[in-house]
Amino acid sequence: MVRVRFAPSPTGGLHIGGVRTALYNFLFAKQNKGTMILRIEDTDQSRFVPGAEEYIKESLQWIGIQVDEGDGIGGKLGPYRQSDRHRLGIYKQYAQRLLEEKKAYIAFDTEEELQKMREDLQESHSTTRQYNADTRKTMKNSLTLSHQEVEKRIRNGERHVIRLQVPENEDIIFYDVVREKVIYHSSVLDDKVLIKSDGMPTYHFANVVDDHLMEITHVIRGEEWLSSTPIHVLLYDFFGWRKNMPVFVHLPLILKPEGAGKLSKRDAENHGFSIFPLNWIDPLSHNTSIGFRESGYLKETMINFLALLGWSNGTEEEFFTLQKLITEFSLEKVHKSGARFDIKKAQWFNKHYIKQKNKNEIYYEITQILLSQNIPFSEEKIPLIVESMIERITFIPEIITHGMFFFYPPEQYDNALIQKKWNPETEKVLQGIALLFEQNNSIEYSPEQIHSLLENYFADKQIKMGKYMQMLRVAITGSGEGPDLMNILSIIGVPKAGARIYSALQKIGKKEKTE
Ligand code: GLU
Repeated sequence: MVRVRFAPSPTGGLHIGGVRTALYNFLFAKQNKGTMILRIEDTDQSRFVPGAEEYIKESLQWIGIQVDEGDGIGGKLGPYRQSDRHRLGIYKQYAQRLLEEKKAYIAFDTEEELQKMREDLQESHSTTRQYNADTRKTMKNSLTLSHQEVEKRIRNGERHVIRLQVPENEDIIFYDVVREKVIYHSSVLDDKVLIKSDGMPTYHFANVVDDHLMEITHVIRGEEWLSSTPIHVLLYDFFGWRKNMPVFVHLPLILKPEGAGKLSKRDAENHGFSIFPLNWIDPLSHNTSIGFRESGYLKETMINFLALLGWSNGTEEEFFTLQKLITEFSLEKVHKSGARFDIKKAQWFNKHYIKQKNKNEIYYEITQILLSQNIPFSEEKIPLIVESMIERITFIPEIITHGMFFFYPPEQYDNALIQKKWNPETEKVLQGIALLFEQNNSIEYSPEQIHSLLENYFADKQIKMGKYMQMLRVAITGSGEGPDLMNILSIIGVPKAGARIYSALQKIGKKEKTE
């Protein structure tokens, strides 16, 4: 039975890479009819950020990642928040066991002493900066102090931690689905703190104990945790849990859009996007980072885009719905090399998924935006506006921002174009069209009817219609390009179109004279 977990730390807004990790876990769980667990790893009190846990849950919900076991959801191997597990004394007993079996030891070194150790190592040009098999012999711990001394210090309330006793001169070998055989020599490992001086477990310790107790079968997480894995493997060994050790799957790094280097919050901002799934308000600075959801990315886009950030099914295929991913996803096809965060690709997917989206939902969203911005509109025009804009936009709200002319006459006209193409002859033709619209002023005209009205008019005058359509468009919308002009005229209605032409003639004409 597959059991996977997403184990974020609530230390800030969830990074979009975290959403990918959650998605891969979810896809693998669903595919195998397994269980998806959400475990909150909040043992680092100094990094705790209020609101982060709720944010994580809301982000998963938005994408459609359902959790089977977790805080507030249930499951028989909970609680699922590490601070709650700590309160129940779960970690302490395991740390005690390692101490008794001499696989961990107590260390009393102060921050200054540790600092001095690092400086001494640096001075002696040692390649390590760690608390390890060599250095631990020179430090203040239960390996160097007598039993009585250790007891006395503890009785006196001296601050101390529990450290893992990494074996000397040993290869730690494990298999990772993506990296295959991985070897770390114990000399490069640190005697990691397992229990901090405040009595709380560290990430490494709580993570391994919980993965074991929660019967996790596969640990699917970002590559940044690969170098922690030998420590975890040692813990599995020390506890005698190696034969039930989860399968490790380390997902490739997410790289900047240009390809080299890990994507950071700042890189994303420099490229005009954020790395947060939802709006995130930093509780300290109160700065808001716009989320993908609020920027107008659809959840279908994010699922497709994130799924391909480090995985493909081996073909050129690019469109994947959640359902298709659940069928086709496989851990074996996860890539080794870093995945470039190509935001253009995300936008391309968004264009695609907007066209697939249920139209009524789009009408509803547009209506809500118009209402919230007090923009006057008639409801029956919304489907027509959406229809005429949908091919031209990347985000749904752009139907309004790029289609303002459907709601208001233009405030400005494309100056460069006017300089080039506006002349007395244009003015004469536009005047004629305005008059034509005055004489044929039904608001019911379809785009086809308006087209033949204009066609007849131009035929009558024996002038070329094509030559004047762009300036007519400028007069109506302010811009030289946009969706089908006959559609626009039909949507805003011939009487209003006529008025817009008169107003353009006045404003543009005046401008010409003053320039
Ligand atoms: N709490 C870790 C994090 O914030 C979990 C890493 C893991 O999955 O082991 O990502």
